[in-house]
Amino acid sequence: MGREDETEADPMAHLFTKHYVEGGLETLLAHIAELQKLRDACGGLGIDITDAQFARVIILSMPTPSWDPVVGALAGVLDPKIVISQLNTKWSRRQGLTSTGKDSNMVFQTGTQPKCENCNKLGHVKAKCWARGGGQEGQYLRRYNSQTSNTSTPSWTLR
Ligand SMILES: [Zn+2]
Repeated sequence: MGREDETEADPMAHLFTKHYVEGGLETLLAHIAELQKLRDACGGLGIDITDAQFARVIILSMPTPSWDPVVGALAGVLDPKIVISQLNTKWSRRQGLTSTGKDSNMVFQTGTQPKCENCNKLGHVKAKCWARGGGQEGQYLRRYNSQTSNTSTPSWTLR
């Protein structure tokens, strides 16, 4: 993470020399967000980085040789959004392979959960139970409908 005044000094040079360090603390999306900031800084100085150029910058910032097959497959792609989504998909998959024991489902299953005295199922208490005799008997459909608006969106945006 460069300081604000460093990136303002020569964002163009910074943009073309910043590389993603695999296994470092920075996530891929944080790295790309940083590149996007540098692109914006270039724009502020009157240097317009086109989408095609930015796509190349992102591709070339990936470490070699571990990312060569992915980078090779993206060589002709000129849309940074496609490049970012492809890289992030591969990156997430690699994270999954290297971080064993951090599976979110496993954490969920082994965590302490309340047990319902009414229907004996785990994950809720009697007051929140939808089964017969529970505190929210018959409210299943109402609850289900109110949850359909919760769609997950990526935490990053590309301008
Ligand atoms: Zn219950």
